Amino acid sequence: MATATHLEKLNERQRCAVEYGIGAEEGAQAGPLLIIAGAGSGKTNTLAHRVAHLIVNGADPRRILLMTFSRRAAAEMSRRVERICAQVLGRSSGMMTDALSWAGTFHGIGARLLRIYAEQIGLNAEFTIHDREDSADLINLIRHELGFSKTESRFPTKGTCLAIYSRTVNAEMRLNEVLRSWYPWVAGWEQQLQELFAGYVEAKQAQNVLDYDDLLLYWAQMVSDASLADDIGNRFDYVLVDEYQDTNKLQSSVLLALKPDGRGLTVVGDDAQSIYSFRAATVRNILDFPKQFAPAAEIVTLDRNYRSTQPILAAANGVIDLARERFTKNLWTDRESAERPKLLTVKDEADQANCIVEQVLANRESGMLLKQQAVLFRTSSHSGPLEVELTRRNIPFVKFGGLKFLDSAHVKDMLAVLRFAQNPRDRVAGFRLLQMLPGVGPQTAGKILDTIAADPEPLMALGEVPAPPRSGTDWMSLVELLQALRKPGSAWPTEIEMARMWYEPHLERIHEDAETRRADLVQLEQIAAGYPSRERFLTELTLDPPDATSDQAGVPLLDEDYLILSTIHSAKGQEWRSVFMLNVVDGCIPSDLATGTSHELEEERRLLYVGMTRAKDQLALMVPQRFFTGGQHAQGDRHVYASRTRFIPATLLQFFESANWPVASPNVSERSAKQIRIDVAARMRTMWR
Ligand code: ATP
Ligand code: MG
Repeated sequence: MATATHLEKLNERQRCAVEYGIGAEEGAQAGPLLIIAGAGSGKTNTLAHRVAHLIVNGADPRRILLMTFSRRAAAEMSRRVERICAQVLGRSSGMMTDALSWAGTFHGIGARLLRIYAEQIGLNAEFTIHDREDSADLINLIRHELGFSKTESRFPTKGTCLAIYSRTVNAEMRLNEVLRSWYPWVAGWEQQLQELFAGYVEAKQAQNVLDYDDLLLYWAQMVSDASLADDIGNRFDYVLVDEYQDTNKLQSSVLLALKPDGRGLTVVGDDAQSIYSFRAATVRNILDFPKQFAPAAEIVTLDRNYRSTQPILAAANGVIDLARERFTKNLWTDRESAERPKLLTVKDEADQANCIVEQVLANRESGMLLKQQAVLFRTSSHSGPLEVELTRRNIPFVKFGGLKFLDSAHVKDMLAVLRFAQNPRDRVAGFRLLQMLPGVGPQTAGKILDTIAADPEPLMALGEVPAPPRSGTDWMSLVELLQALRKPGSAWPTEIEMARMWYEPHLERIHEDAETRRADLVQLEQIAAGYPSRERFLTELTLDPPDATSDQAGVPLLDEDYLILSTIHSAKGQEWRSVFMLNVVDGCIPSDLATGTSHELEEERRLLYVGMTRAKDQLALMVPQRFFTGGQHAQGDRHVYASRTRFIPATLLQFFESANWPVASPNVSERSAKQIRIDVAARMRTMWR
């Protein structure tokens, strides 16, 4: 029997949750367990210990399913589990992470299961996955085919159409209810939308593509068959889910199908941090969990916060105290500090960026790495002025939740080549690829795709299509490339190199600044080398693309230092020593797009709570007097005069203005900046060598 040294650091309630039902009876899997508690109380930490404890007590890691909010979170969790197991079992590291192979997001796990069971549910296992942009493009194609965009210019945009479709699917609601509740201004289009969605679903099936929502939808469909549900459920002895408050109905239904009696099931979350209702997440999942499994469900609550200092926690509690509905109780901490969160009133966004940079550099000067600091914001576009300032001062940063590396046109071009080779019925990829050839426009591309789609072997058929006029030798070289990529046994990741060599002359013709773009493609090849196959690469990259960095070159090397920029939504579950929040003003948080109902307003309050509770030692809330509402308003861009958010009680804060902002002297900052410039130069050398 293993020793319990790995449990020593946990408090009593955390330990109870870790040990609950493990080793009680031979072969028994612990009944349903819910850990529900506030931010920073160690929920994720407890979950990691529980997984490790299961393994230490003989559970097979390959039969543990762990679902988290992002792939990054899953990787972090696997690392922690491995550390704990290695400590107890003394195994060499590296072993566990591989063994805990079913750790990922709902969507990622769904994609894997669907490939395994594809044949049994009449799906072609070579399906490709459309990201949101591809999905919107496909909807757009069909919208045009149906003539909706032409007949009436007020027809909802492709983005709105996709949002409506997605909500309907994820909330498992009827279209007319979704329109009535969330999109009343397009209710008159119900019939056309129905037609559009029917066409969209048909097109996806014909093209063998799935969108994000399909990964859950097909999964749910698959487990509605009792024997398949059994089969899939029996693959896993334990199923554990973090951030359960942000799951939607579809996600809870696939979960329940895996473990209908709740045995082996653990879910973890905080109702006060539920912030994804715009993606149809419902806090009811976590709140109803005990009822669903009554009387078997065990509920563990935690009440001690280990993350933040007392004044930070007090301010966060001050925000959430006024929430209308709440299950989790306030937390306490023994981390004393004299420093209250700062509320800094600045002139405008330029002033805001400047003050932050000064403080970031001063912190770094006193030994706090850039990585231990983060700037959070409500909407991705809000960080623009700060990004400019950071770039000007050569301070490296990584941005989460914003524009992704994969959104750049040339990277999408390359992926279209690979996707089309993987699945020649994928029309969005096909359109993109064929139109790279000189002289091929949408009409020609459409005709070629129609011709080959009818053939059981589309790529063979492509070889017989006459070369479009003016496409010259480019046509033949494309056909040869695709057929080579299709050859069984062609070695990944050499394939991506072949694709790049084919693409390079086109890159120069299609895009300006080919030089920088070429560097991205080299970067893409490096990323690709980390995946075992084309299929895994395409799937995982689409589901969880790398984040944008200050030099637009994808993921930075792990040992570098960089500042984190993140939307509050993407900052979920994480923590930093110092946190800055941009534009903490009414109109931004709460967003003036979300003040229509008290329901929306409450979600904005929780969002602020999530942001504030990311801070361990320092929290600065920025309040520009004037800020620019880039495109948020129907009237177009404009400046608004702002006042601080209504959510934070003034007594819990300390007030500053930029004139008396207590940062280090300018020459200190200058020294720091220089040091960082040197770091960046070193980094560039390693990257472009
Ligand atoms: P969130 O709600 O933000 O996801 P959480 O409840 O998941 O937070 P964790 O991220 O697991 O909280 O833990 C917060 C911090 O507290 C981490 O730095 C973690 O290492 C630390 N921590 C958790 N439990 C303990 C403990 N028993 N002793 C010391 N530190 C702890
Ligand atoms: Mg957590």
